[in-house]
Amino acid sequence: MRSKLVVGNWKMNGSRAANAELLSNIVAGLDGASAACAVCVPCVYLHQTQELLAGSPMKVGAQDVSDKACGAFTGEVAASMLVEYDCQYVIVGHSERRAYHMETSELVACKAEAVLRAGMTPIVCVGETLEERDAGQTNAVVSEQLEAVLKLLDEADVAKLVVAYEPVWAIGTGKTATPAMAQEVHAALRAQLRAHSAEVADTVPLLYGGSMKPDNAKELMAQPDIDGGLIGGAALKAADFLAIIHAAR
Ligand code: PEP
Repeated sequence: MRSKLVVGNWKMNGSRAANAELLSNIVAGLDGASAACAVCVPCVYLHQTQELLAGSPMKVGAQDVSDKACGAFTGEVAASMLVEYDCQYVIVGHSERRAYHMETSELVACKAEAVLRAGMTPIVCVGETLEERDAGQTNAVVSEQLEAVLKLLDEADVAKLVVAYEPVWAIGTGKTATPAMAQEVHAALRAQLRAHSAEVADTVPLLYGGSMKPDNAKELMAQPDIDGGLIGGAALKAADFLAIIHAAR
């Protein structure tokens, strides 16, 4: 059986003072029975987050990474740098990166590979826009996005992935996919993984993201192929994030 995983994505939010309050309240609310959890913070806050989470079950993560190892790539951050801050998870291919930074599925796959080479876990995001859903293209879109990653990695690396299904129309909008809608896409992603490798299909965690909140988290995570959540807005409120983590038990 897969255990549940809940990951917060702070996006471009935070300040040293706000982070200290948020993280200390989250840490205080975790207990031995809490589901596996992590926060993906802006890079400039990795050191602070590493220090505040030291010894806690909450792991540290980043929101993006370069596909390059080092060198003349102004503004970029390498996977080897993230490791130095105890990062265990790195989000790659978030829809905001795909939309605003023109990231292709091939680039996202290279980023996932860079994360793996550095010994961390990539959280590969896939998801369709509202226009694509309305045109009946949901499965084709997410399948193309995942396939680029499956094509580049060998089976042992695919086994180390986390995949997050995040319908673009549900991110930050307050609109959530119904549990049945989300489960349908998760089942298709699981089938795609199975076609690639029957060995790993049942072990790769598939997270749902898109306005997951305390009041819908339990029902979403009760679906057979939903193994946790990638949480944006609700991860910025300690009480909400903790309620989602506890709903994942
Ligand atoms: C996200 O940014 O990955 C996300 C799921 O955001 P929200 O929970 O705010 O919809």
